[in-house]
Amino acid sequence: MRTRSILVYLPAYPFTFMNLMPNRSLASAAACLIGAGHFTRIQDYGTLETLEQLASSPPSLRRLPTFPGRRRNGPGLRPTLEAFHRQVSRELAAFPRTDFIAFYIEDRPALAGAVQVSKRLREIKPDLKLVGFGPGTRLCGGTLLKTATAFDCLCLHDGGRALAQLADRIHAPQTWGTIPGLLIPAPGHPQTTPGPDTHSLVLLPGADYGPATYPALRSRTKLMLFTIEDSHGCDFTCHGCPRGSARRPFVQTRPSAAVADEVWRIGKEYGARAFHFCNAGSPAAQVKAVACELMARHLTVWYSRAWHVRHTSPAALRALTASGCRAVSFRIDTGSQRLLDDYYGRGFGVTETESVLRASKAAGLFTVARFTYPCPEDDTHTREETLRLLERARPHSAPVAVPELLPGSAWDAHPENFGFRPHTERQLGALLRRLQRDGARGVPRGFMPRRIGVWTAVQAIRENASLRRTIEERGIPSTLPEDVALMAKFAGYDGREVAFADMLGARLRNGDAAGAAAFVEGFNDAACVPARELALRRLAPLRAAVGN
Ligand code: SF4
Repeated sequence: MRTRSILVYLPAYPFTFMNLMPNRSLASAAACLIGAGHFTRIQDYGTLETLEQLASSPPSLRRLPTFPGRRRNGPGLRPTLEAFHRQVSRELAAFPRTDFIAFYIEDRPALAGAVQVSKRLREIKPDLKLVGFGPGTRLCGGTLLKTATAFDCLCLHDGGRALAQLADRIHAPQTWGTIPGLLIPAPGHPQTTPGPDTHSLVLLPGADYGPATYPALRSRTKLMLFTIEDSHGCDFTCHGCPRGSARRPFVQTRPSAAVADEVWRIGKEYGARAFHFCNAGSPAAQVKAVACELMARHLTVWYSRAWHVRHTSPAALRALTASGCRAVSFRIDTGSQRLLDDYYGRGFGVTETESVLRASKAAGLFTVARFTYPCPEDDTHTREETLRLLERARPHSAPVAVPELLPGSAWDAHPENFGFRPHTERQLGALLRRLQRDGARGVPRGFMPRRIGVWTAVQAIRENASLRRTIEERGIPSTLPEDVALMAKFAGYDGREVAFADMLGARLRNGDAAGAAAFVEGFNDAACVPARELALRRLAPLRAAVGN
């Protein structure tokens, strides 16, 4: 049966850069559904229009508390958000002959909006099937299904494949128990079906960013920076990362021709030249193969990519630069060899890290070293070791994140073994209510636990801010990721990437829709050329050093 569905992205408010980028998970889920013979469209509300609508309604975001801030007893953003959720529910309900609606829930702050809209839809169209998917479902899926009637089921693992199977049987809920990776309501406690096996990306469609499927991209009210996945999974087994698997390390690569086809297609549809390759676990051979394929096709693109210290080689770095890569990031976590080995399970050394960061800078790449602080075993010595590594290697940027319990990681599976204390179901319920009142303002993004070693969440955020201040005092930006650095270069802020990130970030945080729109338009004008021009422009001649 050919079903009709809508995939909905409703980011938490206030927005971040990420919310304004095209959503790869949705595009990939859409490709799976369309590949299985179903009809679907993406309703993405992470746009400038949404920002303008929410920002223009009182009260001003500036009057809301920041985290950690005092509790506020007023209505907060609730009236604005409720009106917006009512409008979204009406819009979604107005689509004719819809079999199911799937909400992409990316993290904790995004949960509240999805639940609100889903509940209203349930009132308007009781027969419509409502599904949740994305990493946020794994955070408190059980609590959600037990306490709310918002969703008929949640896809816990590979959203796209599970949705395609679910679509085939959407009107036969009694058969859902055989679909891998679902959480289904059941008497007493929700039932989880066994997770899916690993699968080959060769057999999967890439991502469908086409204007018919993804109408929000037509009007260019999103940042036209597209995420590409050239591989899936990782051969390493870092404890804090869901990509690797302690039980079965694996990485699956997509053929470089398929990756270049996807870049080419997006270029043809939107004239887009800006891309971000997201999988840090891609082996050197894959990174080089993709770089050579882009060059062989004369695709004049600029891109950023996440990568791994162990996979790096001088030849691969040169191939990256020659093919249009402008920024690269390495997740380092800490400058302490003891923590790298025992706590993070990273599989590389501090000395190796230092030489890779230097080589990356020497290859002309904007080099980002990502750190995590504080982990439960951090102390003043490990803090100093991290600072010493930064002093020696001097990357262009060193973002420092607080540890998060990412669903699927060893940290998330056994938080107590790693010194974390996660939220209880009751605390998650309270968090949901707060999100409904004030939006995401003042709520830590992502999957931060309640306690990190001796620190509460608030204290950990203060520790993190203190390290970031020290890093900045030493002349290294501590908040700039590689994709934002790429955006800044496109927007004409080469050498002033931090100023670009600070200005756009402040506009988004403060709900300055007009200011954010000016930045987005500036970037899109620079990053997109008239349709098909991408195909006609030639790249600089290939260098002998990268073969071909
Ligand atoms: S942190 Fe990087 S290297 Fe480690 S498992 Fe994740 S993707 Fe792989």
